[in-house]
Amino acid sequence: MGLNESFHLCCWGDYMNMRSTAIGVALAVTLGLAACSGQQSNQSAATQSADTSGQWRSHGRDDSEQRYVPLTQINADNVSQLGVAWFADLAERGGYQTTPVMADGRLYVTTPWSKVYAFDAKTGEQLWKYDPQVPRELAATSLCCNISNRGVAYWNGKVIWGTLDGRLVAADAKTGQKVWEAQTTDPELALSITGAPRIGDGKVFIGQAGAEFHQRGYLSAWDAETGQKLWHWWAVPGNPADGFEQPELEWAAKTWNGEWWKTGGGATPWDGIVYDPETGLVIFGTGNGAPWPAEVRSPGGGDNLFTSSIVALDAKTGQYRWHYQTVPADSFDFDNTSPLTTADLTIDGKKTHVVMQAPKNGVFYVIEAATGKVISANLFVPSANWLTGFDKDNNWKPILNPDANIGKTGKGWFVVPFQTHVWNPQSFNPETGLMYLPARYASYGMVSEAGAKMGNQLLSINVAKRPEYAPPQLEGAGMYLLAWDPVNQREAWKNREGSGGSGTMTTAGNLVFQGTGQRNFSAFRATDGQMLWSTETQGGGITAGSISYELDGTQYVAVVAGQGAGGGAPARLLVYSLDGKAQLPAAGPPVVPVLNPPANFGTAAQLARGQDLYTQNCTICHESGARMGNFPDLRYSAMLLAAPAFESVVLGGALSENGMVSFSKALNAEDVEAIRSHLVRVANELKANPPQQGGGRGGQGGGRGAAAAPSNAPQQPAAGLHQ
Ligand code: CA
Repeated sequence: MGLNESFHLCCWGDYMNMRSTAIGVALAVTLGLAACSGQQSNQSAATQSADTSGQWRSHGRDDSEQRYVPLTQINADNVSQLGVAWFADLAERGGYQTTPVMADGRLYVTTPWSKVYAFDAKTGEQLWKYDPQVPRELAATSLCCNISNRGVAYWNGKVIWGTLDGRLVAADAKTGQKVWEAQTTDPELALSITGAPRIGDGKVFIGQAGAEFHQRGYLSAWDAETGQKLWHWWAVPGNPADGFEQPELEWAAKTWNGEWWKTGGGATPWDGIVYDPETGLVIFGTGNGAPWPAEVRSPGGGDNLFTSSIVALDAKTGQYRWHYQTVPADSFDFDNTSPLTTADLTIDGKKTHVVMQAPKNGVFYVIEAATGKVISANLFVPSANWLTGFDKDNNWKPILNPDANIGKTGKGWFVVPFQTHVWNPQSFNPETGLMYLPARYASYGMVSEAGAKMGNQLLSINVAKRPEYAPPQLEGAGMYLLAWDPVNQREAWKNREGSGGSGTMTTAGNLVFQGTGQRNFSAFRATDGQMLWSTETQGGGITAGSISYELDGTQYVAVVAGQGAGGGAPARLLVYSLDGKAQLPAAGPPVVPVLNPPANFGTAAQLARGQDLYTQNCTICHESGARMGNFPDLRYSAMLLAAPAFESVVLGGALSENGMVSFSKALNAEDVEAIRSHLVRVANELKANPPQQGGGRGGQGGGRGAAAAPSNAPQQPAAGLHQ
């Protein structure tokens, strides 16, 4: 998982607002009308297949994962009349990344701790709830990024989903009773599932996260009826002395040097998977290599297959068919696990069945699904410095910039772009021919240091160090909703009122839906990007994708918003329709944080140790996270007042249901008191030097606009995250 994933997950609260927040207000609506140029001419996707019932029966609506809804009751002319049909509050605290699934009149959503709720999709009545009882202590030791879950799969009367401790669970869709359960990972290893399973041909496909915990990634397939394991495909070779489990691992091993198996290799496929019935392939993305700098994990070079790749396997057998490595020798956490979408495009006058992806590295790929032949690749942000071009004669292999090889040069590097598009869903509208993407144009500075850890994560990047030069000035930096024409590989429009961290959904009503701002849900005109409707959720931000479905003649739009910060509303499933009349409870007044630390205490050694431990264990959420959304700024915490209170949270797990789990496996009481001494000191420094107007935290929790972090804050590992 990414810095994103790794720099937001873990801890006290919701890492939600990865989305653009304060950026939004820029009125620049860059309306390129290229969307309507005669050159694009995509056919309606064959993959819409048999599902014409108005339901949303799988993670990406259907096998194509276009997230395109062929319904027109709600459209660009009347979307402003949308109202809340019903809503349901969700009690769990933590990051909400779930895309609902609607099948046979029931709506299924997942919540933190891998729980599932089922609702009547028309009335909102809660039908059942399932808690797989994930051990809470996992979060402190084995999760890079969050306690969230991105959604369920639906198959033949069963709801099937993954759990943080690596299980697949199948429950009866009507009753919520367990049908089967399968452990897909070795429970002794730090492997977790946050992604949604995909199902094709009666098989459940699932990957896992854990590259940063020196793991070896794989995709596995399970019988949807029985939970029996069918096949298993390793994404990187193990120790050659043990033999190779798959023939292709023998040549993949030639792209590695040293003893990479000792640190796992990475390549964990933790999100994007599509089953393609037209080719019989399951196509998925693999994670970054681990540890991060290529030179550290594979001294002397090598592409390190199959890290940072798109891989296609025969869905029936799990046998390798093709791969395209988007980033050979990745050093920048370029997981290639972003969503994948299949479609039939008309390219050079010929109908072509393609798979498309726009991953972290900033390049939009259009690839022939059957063969892996790259049709085109182009940057979807203004610039990049990790590559200098493509070797088109070699299936568009990227030409790497040698200066960016941080493990080899020994110098830090501000990579451009960074975290450009991570897991947040994309959508493709066959009518406009455009892909709708949350996009982020930013740089991030990394300094390689073999063996450097962040908590339990072996990154070999020193997260407390920045490169010794100024970050690049990026014209047009920021986060926005981007409409991309894949046939012509060019931007159709962008809208900075839109988000760079919230999923999209598009409809035949000429609409694109996306979460925007701090806590809004909005609709844009699909052809030109004009915002047509926006409503407050009263809670927190929306990072996942919305869905739309039809039931008894009414079209609905459903989305899950995270909990609000600082006393805001709980996380909430919101369902809208044109005649929706439900009223949301009034949002409470913003809670203004009070800075009231006790007197400074601690020896110089204790303070230094506290700062070090804080950097290692806490900054992931409470520095970068605080500025991104809902993570508490601990300088304001009342828990600082007394050692027992602070310890009850950090070691006792008193707030574990909020996502702040016990760190008792990583820290002892002495450590915790050292961390408290450090926090008390920085809180008192802040009190003595209050931030300038506009630089502090609002009651709704920072947001990106507060990027002017207080100058006396400790070194910010993720300071460049959003540039
Ligand atoms: Ca990663």
